Amino acid sequence: MYRISLITGDGIGPEISDAVVGILEAINDNLGLNLEIKKLEAGDAVLKKTGKALPDSTLDTIKKSDACLKAPVGESAADVIVVLRRILDLYANIRPAKSYPNMPALKENIDLVIVRENTEDLYTGMEFDIGDSAIAMRTISQNASRRIARYAFKTASQRNRQRKVTCVHKSNVMRKTDGLFARSCQEIAKEYADIAFEHMYVDACAMNLIRQPESFDVIVTTNLFGDILSDEAAQVVGGLGMAPAANIGDNFALFEPVHGAAFDIAGKQAANPSSFILSAKMMFEWLGMKNGDDKCYAVAKKIEDAVYGVVKDGTKTKDIGGNKTTREFSQQVISKLT
Ligand code: ATP
Repeated sequence: MYRISLITGDGIGPEISDAVVGILEAINDNLGLNLEIKKLEAGDAVLKKTGKALPDSTLDTIKKSDACLKAPVGESAADVIVVLRRILDLYANIRPAKSYPNMPALKENIDLVIVRENTEDLYTGMEFDIGDSAIAMRTISQNASRRIARYAFKTASQRNRQRKVTCVHKSNVMRKTDGLFARSCQEIAKEYADIAFEHMYVDACAMNLIRQPESFDVIVTTNLFGDILSDEAAQVVGGLGMAPAANIGDNFALFEPVHGAAFDIAGKQAANPSSFILSAKMMFEWLGMKNGDDKCYAVAKKIEDAVYGVVKDGTKTKDIGGNKTTREFSQQVISKLT
């Protein structure tokens, strides 16, 4: 039995969470995996109610679960996800950008992964005012850089596609911080002689993601650059509605869409739940790897095949050029999970 904690979030969060619960129930009923789902509150709504964006009870339940699914939260995102990443030491943020059929994509045949360092950079909240200026401090450490580089090389090896890692930074300007990141990745590259390694400045990477996205396999980068480049990569393959992500540590992992709470379309059944459904797919792959459970891998493949089949049939939400509601789309995915 796997205990899955589920933060239902703000904005479109509850709607895409309903879709994912439907998928998990179908897996329970039809695919022979026993799942216990615990719905949890975190984000703007619970902050308003209780004064805490991440209630202790939510954190306790997450810690007792085998994995966490998290829908996006609104304004209080930093008080939820940044805190969870730190407390649970979820140091690797994995953001795949993969082509699916019938997408409003810029290019076809893309299958790349952005491995984003998740614990430091400009996200540690070290900001202060001095006179009429505001200062932000950026932390990059050798340990965190080596750890994320190792994760990237392992990913390139396991994917076994182009077997290439592109290290993205701006060490010509941020000589100390990005210089350390680039050097640390270069050192780890020596341990993986069978994986190709290249450096790329972040501006060149932003350009190449549009110009020749198919040339990338695994991109390893720092926290802020990874955040920006993964939105760009998502758009190249069809948009944020198709973009899942994983936050992975040595003992625990949390899975969430790349996008935010999208308040502009909340409550209208207009959200594409694929980003969250594909995040659940990543969760089953991780559970399979962690527990040596082939059933989890099979479920992950079933979910991906179901989403692939549904969009190939032309069943799509508005963001990817269709007219289906969130519920109609997820029902179609569920119908392929029997
Ligand atoms: P954040 O800063 O928290 O990432 P944001 O305000 O930059 O959030 P998002 O919520 O990530 O923006 O999304 C940007 C826009 O993309 C939304 O306003 C919405 O129109 C669209 N969008 C995002 N996710 C989805 C989705 N799952 N389905 C359909 N459209 C989406």
